[in-house]
Amino acid sequence: MKILNVDQIRALDQATIQHEPIAPINLMERAALAFVDWFVDRFPATTPLKIFCGLGNNGGDGLAIARLLLERDYPLEVFVVRYAPRESDDFMHNHRRLKLVTDNIRYVELSHDIPPMPHNEVVIDAILGSGLSRPAEGIVKSAIEAINRSPATVVSVDIASGLYADQPNAPEDVIVEPDYTVAFQLPKLAFLLPGNARYTGDWQTVDIQLHKRFIDKAPTPYYYTRPDEARLLLHKRDRYAHKGTFGHALLLAGSYGKIGAAVLSARACLRSGVGLLTVQVPGCGYPVLQTAVPEAMCRPDTHEHVLSGTTEVETTSPADFTTVGIGPGIGKASETLAMLKALLPTLTKPMVIDADALNLLGENRELLDQLPAGSILTPHPKEFERLTAPWQNDYEKLDRLREFARKYRVVVVLKGAHTAVATPEGDIHFNATGNPGLSTGGTGDVLTGVLTALLAQRYDPVEAAVLGVYAHGLAGDQVAEQRGQIGMTATDVVDALRWA
Ligand code: ADP
Ligand code: ADP
Ligand code: MG
Repeated sequence: MKILNVDQIRALDQATIQHEPIAPINLMERAALAFVDWFVDRFPATTPLKIFCGLGNNGGDGLAIARLLLERDYPLEVFVVRYAPRESDDFMHNHRRLKLVTDNIRYVELSHDIPPMPHNEVVIDAILGSGLSRPAEGIVKSAIEAINRSPATVVSVDIASGLYADQPNAPEDVIVEPDYTVAFQLPKLAFLLPGNARYTGDWQTVDIQLHKRFIDKAPTPYYYTRPDEARLLLHKRDRYAHKGTFGHALLLAGSYGKIGAAVLSARACLRSGVGLLTVQVPGCGYPVLQTAVPEAMCRPDTHEHVLSGTTEVETTSPADFTTVGIGPGIGKASETLAMLKALLPTLTKPMVIDADALNLLGENRELLDQLPAGSILTPHPKEFERLTAPWQNDYEKLDRLREFARKYRVVVVLKGAHTAVATPEGDIHFNATGNPGLSTGGTGDVLTGVLTALLAQRYDPVEAAVLGVYAHGLAGDQVAEQRGQIGMTATDVVDALRWA
């Protein structure tokens, strides 16, 4: 699913109006109906409602929603926040329509016009939409502050009032903090950024049949991966396949005290369809790995604490494996850095790089040029910062992410809620699955195993990253459903991986 910017959203409305064709007021009605369909499923018709409307098209949506909810017998009052001398045409049209069915419209011009909103009520926020062009001030600001102070449940129409859809807000901006946002057709970029979590609540999109061809043709670097889109990436298994079909991966992981990281990645790799797996661990981890993961072959390292890259039972060189995954639990010892320096120039196929392998790259940036094209890097935000430089806001972070992926021709998986997958072409795919239950040690090591398995199966690196991140998050969601988020462990996530 594409994410469009504000100008494109406006043009998309126009394209729909012209090509369908549909009158603007009827398109507004369709959006209001989609909102109401969502709303009536969640809130019983006895819920007292207060609907706050601005004077633009977002306010027009709010007035249409009010009329449709009145038809469904919700007890409601409408508050028009009068911040400007002029209303939009579709606002006025809906205002006339609403006045035919209710007198319960109040006009908010001064602070004392703003009503109390007790906890049993639902507030619908339709004050400012995605057309926002300057910070909320005056009576709009007072209304937003009152909504945020109130214990009522808040639902924003399309976007929280005061939030910019595709650019940073200033720290002092006053923005509605909704419990829910119901967005029309497509998510806004702002919804996917950690700094905006308070301003989106639990957000969803509702389909209002905007012009599909326009969306298909609109250029954008930003995508949101829907479950059906992710599932399409999954390769089917050939009936005559054999384990060689699915590649032989080499995982370099673990150090003294962190052999668990190697175990978790190895298990996840095997649970993600790799044909054969060899794990290279320090000697001290050898018995552990052989016992915990009997499916994997194991190359013990000569050292007790770190990987040296050379093994006592030297067999195949890393370059001969279908792919290499490196990083979980390896530490940053000087021998490990030496190993990485020796390893990188020998590899040509895309590999997976995580954890301290990334931190070593951050401290030795000249090595970045040696990464095989199409390799997948999986930093969490702190690790990414060590690879680049600190950022001022989420938008700057996205720019940096795209720049980095382009410059080094790699795929960067910036982990967290809505993990962002940046491609060598400079696109970003945001993930839809996962939950804060995953915020526990070892879940990233699991992801490394998953991605290594997909590269071994010869997935295109971008598709591997998008699919792997999706499946990893979905496993987390599955665990959360069964036992809740709090008790989730990385091992649970491995066991919940499912490829169908
Ligand atoms: P849209 O009509 O695009 O859904 P709005 O209802 O938010 O979005 O826009 C209504 C009008 O209000 C727009 O013309 C916009 O320029 C103007 N506007 C933008 N920001 C503010 C603001 N902070 N306060 C008042 N009016 C604003
Ligand atoms: P570790 O190194 O301990 O394995 P990482 O930080 O490398 O942990 O990885 C954590 C994993 O958990 C990542 O895949 C990340 O996307 C996921 N995760 C963490 N917190 C959240 C969250 N709040 N929502 C969704 N996913 C999360
Ligand atoms: Mg990690």
